[in-house]
Amino acid sequence: MFSEHLRQELEIRSYVISHIDEAVENGYIEIYYQPVVRTLTGKLAGMEALARWRDPVYGFLRPDQFIPVLEEERLIDKLDRYVIRECGRQLRRQIDAHRPIVPISFNVSRMDFQLMDVLSEIEAVVRENELPRDYLRIEITETAMVQDSDKILKMIDRFRGNGYSVWLDDFGSGYSSLNVLKDYHFDELKIDMEFLRAFNDTSRKIITSVVMMAKAIGIHTLAEGVETREQVRFLRSIGCEKIQGYHYGRPMPYDELLVHCQERHLRAETREEARIYEKAGLFNVIMASPVALFLDDGRNLYMAYENDAYRKVMKGVGISGRRAVNWIIHSLDDARKERLRAYADRVTRNRPCKVSETFLLDGRRLRVRAKTLAGLPGFHIHMAEIVDLTRDADSL
Ligand code: C2E
Ligand code: CA
Ligand code: CA
Repeated sequence: MFSEHLRQELEIRSYVISHIDEAVENGYIEIYYQPVVRTLTGKLAGMEALARWRDPVYGFLRPDQFIPVLEEERLIDKLDRYVIRECGRQLRRQIDAHRPIVPISFNVSRMDFQLMDVLSEIEAVVRENELPRDYLRIEITETAMVQDSDKILKMIDRFRGNGYSVWLDDFGSGYSSLNVLKDYHFDELKIDMEFLRAFNDTSRKIITSVVMMAKAIGIHTLAEGVETREQVRFLRSIGCEKIQGYHYGRPMPYDELLVHCQERHLRAETREEARIYEKAGLFNVIMASPVALFLDDGRNLYMAYENDAYRKVMKGVGISGRRAVNWIIHSLDDARKERLRAYADRVTRNRPCKVSETFLLDGRRLRVRAKTLAGLPGFHIHMAEIVDLTRDADSL
């Protein structure tokens, strides 16, 4: 049985090598897209392009049956060139159909840097399809950094210098993770799903530290391989910005993904929203003091996040959970609403300084210190710290 298995593997291997051109030309290679969701809003923030090979002879081939072979045989550029072109075309089709688009990230192998000028390839796709550059994002796996590190370092800087964002894929899977972060400039870190496999206290602590560290050095965070609601809740609580995994959807053809998103009420975030959330996303929410994040459209305030300490303070005044806070804000009488509005406007005006205000809630005095993290006219994100002055006085 073993030798039969091996024989078949070798057969597929040589088939892949001799048929890659044909597969690309005849459309046996399909691009599947997997949704990426922003934790703070639950909106679709992007998608990753993943190659599939549907062969007339061998049927469905998994990426691990053709990608390593193509890499070893120095043929991977044939696939990746095709994937990049398809991503560009897909985005163009969407724009022409007046449908909202979100950025697509694609995978680049270490070998690609030897076989093709990846940047020129992307530039050509962007030009031909008249795309904004920030709609194509480059994923490079951590293991790619081990060899040709100088060359890759220069390439990453060139990508970024030309306005492309570069992501470090599979962070934590290799042996050099921290060195890689020290030596290269990445925009986003994709935390390897292996961390999530054993979802225990230790792995949670490791992920929390990784997210905090990334924010401290100005790198965005995305967790992949997220399968359960519990994992989503945890990642949200530590301020991991984006999530990708079966929980939100498997990789699937673009049109299927559109239907899937509609069914799951995953709405695409706009470019402006993305810009603001990216900026606010670097703010570290893991701290001992109570902090919450508020979305402000210039009229209404909505609490989008609260850390554990904040939840505790609110519980102390008899309000449990975000939903309750939002309900209270929503049902304030006109005078209080106006006062809150005036405060929010003052916070926005005084950016980036903190502005304090004391509120009375059910006979308790709450001091809020807030500042605006990011925004554009008409939409801002504020962070607010809170202290229950009554409680402090009580406990003296
Ligand atoms: P990757 O870049 O780390 O891609 C994520 C892989 O995780 C995908 O496997 C995806 O289907 C899988 N995945 C996503 N969410 C979950 C989850 O919740 N649970 C589990 N168990 N798995 C999940 P896939 O599509 O089989 O791709 C495997 C690898 O092949 C990719 O890993 C990437 O390194 C490579 N690859 C795929 N497409 C391309 C491509 O077009 N070019 C290059 N160079 N490499 C590619
Ligand atoms: Ca990837
Ligand atoms: Ca990955």
